[in-house]
Amino acid sequence: KSVPQNGFVGHPKGLFTLFFTEFWERFSYYGMRAILIFFMYYELHEGGLGLDRGLANSIMAIYGSLVYMSGIIGGWIADRILGTRRTIFYGGVFIMLGHFLLALPGGASILFVSMFFIVIGTGLLKPNVSSIVGDMYADTDSRRDAGFSIFYMSINMGSFLAPLIVGTIGQQYNFHLGFGIAGLGMFIGLIIFKLTGKKYLGLAGLQVNNPLLPEERKKVFTRFGILALLIIIAGAIGIKTGVLTVNVFGLIITALGIVIPTLYFIYMYRSEKTTKDEKSRVLAYIPLFLSAVMFWAIQEQGATILATYADSRTRLDIGSFHIPSSWFQSLNPLFVVTMAPLFAMLWMKWGDKQPSTPRKFAYALFFAGLSFLVMMLPAYLSGGTDLVSPLWLVLSFFLVVVGELLLSPVGLSVTTKLAPKAFAAQTMSLWFLTSAAAQAINAQLVKVYEVVSEFTYFGFLGSLAIVLGIIILILSPIISKAMRGIN
Ligand code: GLN
Repeated sequence: KSVPQNGFVGHPKGLFTLFFTEFWERFSYYGMRAILIFFMYYELHEGGLGLDRGLANSIMAIYGSLVYMSGIIGGWIADRILGTRRTIFYGGVFIMLGHFLLALPGGASILFVSMFFIVIGTGLLKPNVSSIVGDMYADTDSRRDAGFSIFYMSINMGSFLAPLIVGTIGQQYNFHLGFGIAGLGMFIGLIIFKLTGKKYLGLAGLQVNNPLLPEERKKVFTRFGILALLIIIAGAIGIKTGVLTVNVFGLIITALGIVIPTLYFIYMYRSEKTTKDEKSRVLAYIPLFLSAVMFWAIQEQGATILATYADSRTRLDIGSFHIPSSWFQSLNPLFVVTMAPLFAMLWMKWGDKQPSTPRKFAYALFFAGLSFLVMMLPAYLSGGTDLVSPLWLVLSFFLVVVGELLLSPVGLSVTTKLAPKAFAAQTMSLWFLTSAAAQAINAQLVKVYEVVSEFTYFGFLGSLAIVLGIIILILSPIISKAMRGIN
């Protein structure tokens, strides 16, 4: 490949382009998410839509699930029709338009159209931008893992900055202006992608790996066309007759979040292209997948349950200064950026003596569980009503990030290694399905939060994560063995 091999902190220059494209994409996504929840349930006179809080949380989760589910479509389009580069560009355009739509003063219907754009756009962009990172390095290049770590930094630097800017403006001034700034962020990302990509990315991502043959094209397009039409007709009838409410839609997404990965596993396992060793690896991947789902279910509630907790249950006034509740969304990425280098050093130091992947996943579940268990204390001490110190949330976010650093960086690489060769191109979306499934389940869980006590809610989910962690820990030798030489 004619990709320049150096020039950005000792890495291929193309990493610069991908770094800032993803930085701005995540800036727009997490900036929007930081205020969207409040926009939905704040009263009309506060500039919100006045939705019920449980419903707003549920919509956040359904939306988050779809954003990661659509990665399957994005991966497929890149692989078979457009190539990764062009797919990323179109994705960015969709995302930008989605945010700009929300910048217009409008109600729930504009919100749903905007969500559609961002779901499609992120599905096109996110898995593909990560997969070009891999293309920057030859298979033997030892800088590859470091490249992915730098890339994970860009994700979290964008996610850190966004709530501080979009959140402050959105909450203190006007939600729509906030969404507009998120759109502007994506616009900057697109400009950087286009202008520097030409020079720095060389030919990476321009080719279509497995192009649709002309005769397949017709068949596939007809099938997709019919399916899309059926969905639109069913949706229209559903809405018209009042059968398709947000709740029913949520149930459908929850079901899909569980069914899609299940089918994927069955398909991979039964495929003729999957060898005997690979079959064993597919089985080994199942408990890891389930752990990741449990982990992200808790982690993602930082943007829903804990966001509303920050807003309504903590003391945000320090003297005359009022902390915008959206700022709490910066805590997770802040801890990721500051602690990731520590973990990298630790793994280097431990070398071969570091825990196996299943063990890391088990520990990640312990920390996720703890992050919820600590929230039982303020619930208990405050009697569930008095405002509590925001530092409880800081502690909770800190704990979940320790888990994230044990699970997320290894998760992607182990997915690539455990997936059968014939499915290699789709593994990026397979990993993102853990987040999709998690949030599909959250769409139901967040409703439970409205009817049980905080103490019970955090206690139950926190314990569940820890119990699952213990099971994984006990099974870890068996899982490792089934991984057949992969670690
Ligand atoms: N916060 C990270 C990101 O946005 C991880 C998300 C995930 O894998 N669920 O990329």
